Amino acid sequence: MNRPSISPAILALAVLTLPFVTGGQTRFFGGDQESQIIRKAKRYNLVSVKKEVPGSFIDMRYKITSAANKPLYLKEMPCLVHRSTAQKLKKANAILGKSGYAIKVWDAWRPPEAHHALWNAVRDPKYVVPPSKGLSWHCYGISIDLTLVKSDGTPVAMPSKFDEFSDRAASDYRGGDPGIAERVNLLQQTMRSVGFRVIESEWWHFDDMAAQGGIRNITAADLGIRMP
Ligand SMILES: [Zn+2]
Repeated sequence: MNRPSISPAILALAVLTLPFVTGGQTRFFGGDQESQIIRKAKRYNLVSVKKEVPGSFIDMRYKITSAANKPLYLKEMPCLVHRSTAQKLKKANAILGKSGYAIKVWDAWRPPEAHHALWNAVRDPKYVVPPSKGLSWHCYGISIDLTLVKSDGTPVAMPSKFDEFSDRAASDYRGGDPGIAERVNLLQQTMRSVGFRVIESEWWHFDDMAAQGGIRNITAADLGIRMP
């Protein structure tokens, strides 16, 4: 009679889910890729917006498409910003919450690898920093692209779509809709009040020029992120 044996697949599953205890915390071998990246990112002062900014929404547009007509990020790409930028975002989101709104992030820390892909597609210095002039502040985790939504995540009309390279992208564009004008004013005033800089060419882009401590450019390779 054959002895009962454990199939290799079941054994592999047991090993992958076997918990081990470190410093009082239970962890799992083979945790999902996004969590692994977030853990590594902390060493570089980058933190997860989802974790650090309660009530915010994340919609990383470059997971779907980009000006290069293809995604720049794979699905495990987390939404990361510099630790001190996250604190400012937290304050901004709390202020916006009093008016019934929340932030929805379109892009945050951007690996230089993705920035180069974007430049190659757009090649317009008005919208993308040419690599010959250095990197975007996105690559340091201190710039963020975001829009407003209602506190429950319901979309609201704003001046343009993300990366719409037209007149409507300008940060002083108000168009003919008073609701849109009011919301974009609220967003810009709030972001300025917590220390972000508004730029002329894109209403959705904000810079944290006063981010404190350990700012450096970090590559996808540093964090073990695969590029598409
Ligand atoms: Zn941006």
